[in-house]
Amino acid sequence: MVKTINKSIVLDLIIQNGPISRADISKETGLNRATVSTMVAELIEDSFVFEIGEGKSSGGRKPVMLYFNERAGFAVGIDLGVNYLLGVLTDLNGAVVQEISVPLVGREEERVVEALEGMMRKLIGRAPESPYGVVGIGVGVPGIVDREGKILFAPNLGWRDVELKPRLERTFGVPVQIINEANAGANGECLYGAGKLAADQVYISIGIGIGAGIIIDGQLYSGKTGIAGEVGHMTIQATGDRCRCGNYGCWELYASEKALLGEVGEGESGSAESGVSDSAGDGAGGVPGERAAAEEGDRLEEILARAQTGDPHVLAALDKIGASIGIGLISIIHSFNPETVIIGNRLARFGEWLREPIQKVLDERLATHQGETPEIQFSLLGRDSCAVGAAAFRITGFLERLGGEGKVG
Ligand SMILES: [Zn+2]
Repeated sequence: MVKTINKSIVLDLIIQNGPISRADISKETGLNRATVSTMVAELIEDSFVFEIGEGKSSGGRKPVMLYFNERAGFAVGIDLGVNYLLGVLTDLNGAVVQEISVPLVGREEERVVEALEGMMRKLIGRAPESPYGVVGIGVGVPGIVDREGKILFAPNLGWRDVELKPRLERTFGVPVQIINEANAGANGECLYGAGKLAADQVYISIGIGIGAGIIIDGQLYSGKTGIAGEVGHMTIQATGDRCRCGNYGCWELYASEKALLGEVGEGESGSAESGVSDSAGDGAGGVPGERAAAEEGDRLEEILARAQTGDPHVLAALDKIGASIGIGLISIIHSFNPETVIIGNRLARFGEWLREPIQKVLDERLATHQGETPEIQFSLLGRDSCAVGAAAFRITGFLERLGGEGKVG
């Protein structure tokens, strides 16, 4: 037990601070030289660490430097969007080595799961040769997920009580983790992206819906049953429209991708239908009446292109959506007093147009005792935050067990 903990501490230090010498590990951890040497020898034997070249020395024999072998294994991360599937294969440092993205046509459970499995098979098949192979799969889903990984409710997919984890574990023979997509995105940005330096941060995922991943003191806060962060359903208009969650005037009705599509579509009768491609891409079938999801994806591209050419109608819509995002952020900042707020998922691509209206609302409305407004950032991992963060959950689980997992393929 103590030995495992020490080994884990040594590995963690090499991951965080490598290249590093045995002497410096001893200095940093307080473990004696002999213990460090034993641990390092085992880590080298296990393929987690390798030694290279020579470090600087103040005289005498030059120390050998130790590196983390981030290619000892790989992990698969999937972002199950409402209208797309994005999958990555990452190394053990979270670097993306393969990426696949397809539009999701149809939201029916069986078809989505088949598409998911197809994507996973492809990614696993593309994993480079390595000692541990693919060590796990993480899936970020747009819904409420309990601690055991059961999807309780995914309103925008129309799913209730879906058990994805046991099925995928049976199919692939590796540990699978199902995570709310905003929590996955928060994990990705916190470990490798815009949130790397902040202990207290809120990641707001804005796609078809809105969710939050809340990091307090470096730890993901998930609440009593694991479902905290459903901020898309906080009320910002007491007498607003009915939301499909049952509440009225929810934030996501005014500040999401869906709201943007609605806003731009208004007064443009029929134009949305023209020019929309019905090619569903990689293996997805084009069943009539089920094209809506893919069309939403295409329309977002179209809106982005129009924003880039300065289309006044689109810019006005983005201004309005940005202001609504700001209104919700006020409540979030009051609730959590975060160091930074990171906006991720698909609307993060509109950062250059959303930043100003968001900031304007915060400047006008945020109570003065909040002091300096927390920094509003857009995700650094771009569209990969959720998929990379989902994979990272499994990497963390794997490294904590120090190589106790099976190998695929
Ligand atoms: Zn709602």
